[in-house]
Amino acid sequence: MNRKGILIVVSGFSGAGKGTVMKGLLGKYDNYALSISATTRAPREGEQHGREYFFLSREEFEKMIAKDELIEYAKYVENYYGTPKAYVEEQLNAGKDVILEIEIQGALKVKEKFPETLLLFVTPPDAKTLRERLIGRGTETPEVIDMRMKRAAEEAEGMEQYDYLMINDDLDTCIEEMHRIIQGEHRKSFRNVPFIERIREELKEV
Ligand code: ADP
Ligand code: 5GP
Repeated sequence: MNRKGILIVVSGFSGAGKGTVMKGLLGKYDNYALSISATTRAPREGEQHGREYFFLSREEFEKMIAKDELIEYAKYVENYYGTPKAYVEEQLNAGKDVILEIEIQGALKVKEKFPETLLLFVTPPDAKTLRERLIGRGTETPEVIDMRMKRAAEEAEGMEQYDYLMINDDLDTCIEEMHRIIQGEHRKSFRNVPFIERIREELKEV
């Protein structure tokens, strides 16, 4: 894959603050594009079709799977979630760093398909803060919060598979750290093969 933008996957426990960090990052810097996923879960209050998610019926989602229109998809707490291919390809080719905010099964599938993907894991400083943030967000019933805490314990098993941990304690610090890590990633030598080839040629000509 010879693209200008970097594909970035951001995962983390539900309630860790991924959405909040993404909003801060995209509001501050303009070289990022956030992929909008498709899902079969119902919209939460204030969520809009085409903004937070493409809210689809199970039949519509399964049609996208059949037509190979998703980079990856996974089932999470009884619902399907998946990443539409077209937008990601278009934005990467336009030189944007594209962020997928997806859970761990999807993250690992993307990494397998595109090994140059940067994997970031957002975590709160401790488990107590996670529960407080889930309660504070006020979008889930106590039963769903318990399910999400349980799921978090399972997801924690995979944390080492990510390239970086982003500890979301102070929000602005976390946003800045994420931006710096991505900028650093652009300087990795394997992402700069055309530069290397060019300067080698130039030096030979001296
Ligand atoms: P996620 O997208 O990971 O499920 P959200 O972005 O919805 O999480 O954040 C969960 C809750 O925690 C929200 O109410 C949000 O305002 C709050 N939150 C996020 N980051 C911080 C932070 N650094 N400090 C305090 N509260 C936070
Ligand atoms: P929520 O219901 O809280 O919006 O999202 C639940 C989980 O699904 C989160 O961990 C979120 O990152 C993940 N998710 C959102 N979109 C996708 C996607 O396209 N693919 C996968 N695999 N997970 C997703």
